Amino acid sequence: MKVIVSHDVDHLYPSDHWRDLYYPKMWVRSFLELVRGQIRFSVFWHRLISVFDQRINRLPEICAFDKEYGVRSTFFFGMEHALGMSYNQDKALPWIRFVKEQGYDAGVHGCDYLTQEGICKEHDDFAQLTGSDAFGIRNHYVRYDEDTFRKMAQAGYVFDTSEFNKEKPTYKAPYRVGRMWEFPLAIMDGYVLWHDLQKAQQTVMDLFRDTAQANGQYVTILFHDCFYNEKCFPVEKAFYEWIIKYVQSLHLEFISYQDAIKELEHGR
Ligand SMILES: [Zn+2]
Repeated sequence: MKVIVSHDVDHLYPSDHWRDLYYPKMWVRSFLELVRGQIRFSVFWHRLISVFDQRINRLPEICAFDKEYGVRSTFFFGMEHALGMSYNQDKALPWIRFVKEQGYDAGVHGCDYLTQEGICKEHDDFAQLTGSDAFGIRNHYVRYDEDTFRKMAQAGYVFDTSEFNKEKPTYKAPYRVGRMWEFPLAIMDGYVLWHDLQKAQQTVMDLFRDTAQANGQYVTILFHDCFYNEKCFPVEKAFYEWIIKYVQSLHLEFISYQDAIKELEHGR
């Protein structure tokens, strides 16, 4: 059993959100969390003033952490705007180069999940922008229907990792859709962690146990890099660090999607 970690890059800079409702929505949500006693006042305050931060992304910080623990991460970047993801390709490119220079893989954080034309465009834009010819995708908000994966394969993606059970973290083996590999996602930060770190840890441990019992090859984990923020999201950051150390304590190896495909296609 090996562990695949990925990071969806939903946000880059505060200025990307001047024309959308990202900050007002976050402030209202945080205020409700504060009055319910779910977050400390200092966390609420730091989220309020985070509009003045230089960047929302935590790519340098999470890359440094992942490097320290040998995590072979994949970062997904948006080529279009959708559902609160509002940065432009020209702002993404330096960060795509940054993660690649650090030795990590990058792919597309997909927006269109319905039309073949739109799915192809995001693929081709990423290829042109980065000069890559073999990369994967995860859709923003893990949106897909019964035809999405076939259309992604048609667009030329090497892998997708959007299939996700929103009810409960679930192990499912990777499978082929045409020439593309689908790696169902087992654990997403926001679906596992809701203010209760201990409960989230138990959920993760249960999933690892279920995967081992099913003789599963890969555990797939998504953590949004913007939550790797001590001041605004201390519990989320602690949760991610705990997962990585937990994997280490189980003596499991981290592997990238691309290397997992090599294993699947050529054996070990
Ligand atoms: Zn997203």
